[in-house]
Amino acid sequence: MPDDAPRFIAKYALEAVPRYTSYPPATKFHGKVGLADWQRWMTQQDKNPALSIYVHIPFCKSMCWYCGCHTTIPNAHRRVEHYLAALDIDIRRRAESAPPDGRVCHIHFGGGSPDMLKPEEFRAVMQQIRASFNVAPDAEIAVELDPRGLDSELCQAMAQTGVNRASLGVQDISHEVQKLIHRIQPLEIVQAAADKLRAVGISAINMDMMYGLPAQSVARVCETANAIAGMGADRVSVFGYAHVPWFKKHQRAIPEERLPGAAERFDQMLAANHTLSEAGYERIGFDHFARPADPLARAARDGSLRRNFQGYTTDPSTILIGLGASAISECPQGYVQTEPNPVRYANAVTSNADMIVRGVGRSMAQQAVASRIANLLCQFETEVEPGDPVDLAKDMLAEALVRIDDGRITLTEAGRPYVRNLAARIDPAFRSTTEQHSVAV
Ligand code: SF4
Repeated sequence: MPDDAPRFIAKYALEAVPRYTSYPPATKFHGKVGLADWQRWMTQQDKNPALSIYVHIPFCKSMCWYCGCHTTIPNAHRRVEHYLAALDIDIRRRAESAPPDGRVCHIHFGGGSPDMLKPEEFRAVMQQIRASFNVAPDAEIAVELDPRGLDSELCQAMAQTGVNRASLGVQDISHEVQKLIHRIQPLEIVQAAADKLRAVGISAINMDMMYGLPAQSVARVCETANAIAGMGADRVSVFGYAHVPWFKKHQRAIPEERLPGAAERFDQMLAANHTLSEAGYERIGFDHFARPADPLARAARDGSLRRNFQGYTTDPSTILIGLGASAISECPQGYVQTEPNPVRYANAVTSNADMIVRGVGRSMAQQAVASRIANLLCQFETEVEPGDPVDLAKDMLAEALVRIDDGRITLTEAGRPYVRNLAARIDPAFRSTTEQHSVAV
């Protein structure tokens, strides 16, 4: 947004709205949906669709206090082994219910930290995926990694099994901030991790950074964004820290008095955007950046950009198969989520019980809303529908945050930070709920 544009901190930036990585949002998931629903939905798909796979590795070496992920710190590696034995069974079973001639175009390993796996364990997971599914030769295979302690042997194993994109968590390069979030990670460690990945041919590198962390300032956010650009990241994700200590108990260790206020937080978000744009990145949606030649930037330009649980993506698949604890699977008919506790997940899988604990079906009308919200989040515009409330975005129009022409509503440059607020206004379910979500900015 332009530097001199008015800011709507209290009215929009602090409004609690869904992140809309799914529609209906995950807050609508309930326990009456199970594996049988997923299997039935799979029989309603085309015979040979593009498929996407997400593999969750719910383990980390130590807990970062800002963490909002489903992860645990194992006290012995045999817990990881027990989990992987169940994951192996899960991969085979889920492949049996997938469309028979589906082709896997995207595989994403997230966590937790997938680098908690030993090289031979990573190879075994990839081997089982390739044996169970038809993986396209040009599939994108991406892995989220903790740069601390990333070893060359694992990088080698990942490259040999087809990994071609890696995502490194940077967050903030200041030692003071790192101490307060319990993640000490000198810049040289991130650079060394990127070097190891590039040395084995994994040359597409994403980096994540955050704003709104304790002791962060505009200057520190700019230094981090510049350092990331200097390390040659192809994509950068810029996430606002969501402080929810009542939900994520380890966040109680974050000193609240050191958290930036809402206006400062907004300035940090703008500073990250500005610094990355100056460094030559193109803005993708509301929280991603990419080098102009990166496929994500090309997708944003040609209108094929999509959004899923990993954020913005080039992945065109309408079927996402989530494997492992807490993983969410998606198809046009709905979503299912597996048991989030790794031990309970493993026990359910090995005892042949239903490891799906919640989900939600999606009607045709909800699929249409999902598509409109996706257009907004990816292209910053969508069509106005006859069923929309007559005062849809009336305030945002008066504030010059949106404009309506030829039956389409479009966010202006000044309105883009508030895209989730506009999405909530076209979401018929949002207006009738009082659920808590993260703040919009
Ligand atoms: S490495 Fe990532 S997943 Fe693990 S605790 Fe830190 S932020 Fe959470």
